[in-house]
Amino acid sequence: MTPTAAVDALVIGAGPVGLFQVFELGLLGIHAHVVDSLPEPGGQCIELYADKPIYDIPATKVCTGRELIARLMAQIEPFKADFHLDQQVNVVERQGDGRFRVETSRGTQLLAKTIVIAGGVGSFQPRRLKIDGIKAFEGTQLFYRAPDAGTLKGKQAIVIGDADAALECAIGLVQQQAQVTLMHRRDEFKAAPATIDEVQRLRASGRLQFVAAQATGIEQAGGRLIALQVTAADGSQPALPLDALIVLTGLSPKLGPIADWGLALERKQLVVDTASFETNTPGIFAVGDVNTYPGKKKLILCGFHEATLAAFGAAAHVFPGQPLHLEYTTTSPRLHRALGVVTPAP
Ligand code: FAD
Repeated sequence: MTPTAAVDALVIGAGPVGLFQVFELGLLGIHAHVVDSLPEPGGQCIELYADKPIYDIPATKVCTGRELIARLMAQIEPFKADFHLDQQVNVVERQGDGRFRVETSRGTQLLAKTIVIAGGVGSFQPRRLKIDGIKAFEGTQLFYRAPDAGTLKGKQAIVIGDADAALECAIGLVQQQAQVTLMHRRDEFKAAPATIDEVQRLRASGRLQFVAAQATGIEQAGGRLIALQVTAADGSQPALPLDALIVLTGLSPKLGPIADWGLALERKQLVVDTASFETNTPGIFAVGDVNTYPGKKKLILCGFHEATLAAFGAAAHVFPGQPLHLEYTTTSPRLHRALGVVTPAP
């Protein structure tokens, strides 16, 4: 277990709203730690529509989900937030001194003066294979993300999935000299055209096998997973030998542990006071898709506004008793110093 770090503010969720929250906290002099269960920032923008256009971000005629996240990351760069990615916040407990003890799935422990939950539609989790007995192999022979380069060299790997992640993983494993079988229930893919072309090229050259089938069971021997039982599209039921099984069939959001922190919920969303976006627990705020209030719209723009007011609410917990002034980024020398820009001459 890692030692507990005392922090001013914790932002749970690195989607667009969580990232902008870092900016608004930074303007008020509050350094943020950010936790996300995904391995990279971006939330829905990256997971669900990275290369699709968004037209309703103010002053931006159009940008893709990926471009928006890159711009937000550049905007918050001066505030040097600490990111704890690839880990879910599991525990949030109020302590006697009013701070919150936070624990993640990777054992990161934080003691935060204030928390802003920007958890969106929940923590994105890989869709898991539902086969009796398979869970025992998770992390040793069963993986829900592409393995590190080189680890499966010379091994037999089955990759399940039909989208970019699965196809790119299969191509990568072929390049790393693994014996790869790509499996999906139909011989159709939903990936980028160039990626599909590469898969078809590897199939034609015999370097990649494809099986149209669904997994139905496993075979084990000596405590190891040795084969995957499948039902093929032609009705046959072969067992495919394997050393590793990589399942990349997409991510599904789950509100998950957020529902266990004693916060008031309405239809699985956090109820907030729209003056500051504070939940029913003083010191814990909720912004973006995760909250609900009369008139709520699940739009990025609305989340940005919520993050602005939540930052002022959070500042009262980080700097209790201190007056807070609204300053303009255009004219405030203090904000210019925080942003690392030069104050224009009068
Ligand atoms: P999210 O983007 O959902 O991010 C939440 C993050 O929190 C996730 O990364 C999740 O992993 C993390 N998280 C949750 N719980 C935990 C936990 N316990 N521990 C650690 N991490 C956790 N909006 C617009 O304004 N304009 C558009 O054009 C537009 N187009 C869209 C198109 C599509 C296809 C979709 C699906 C949505 C679109 N939206 C659009 C909606 C927009 O994407 C959301 O409003 C926005 O992503 C909400 O941002 P968020 O930061 O609140 O949450």
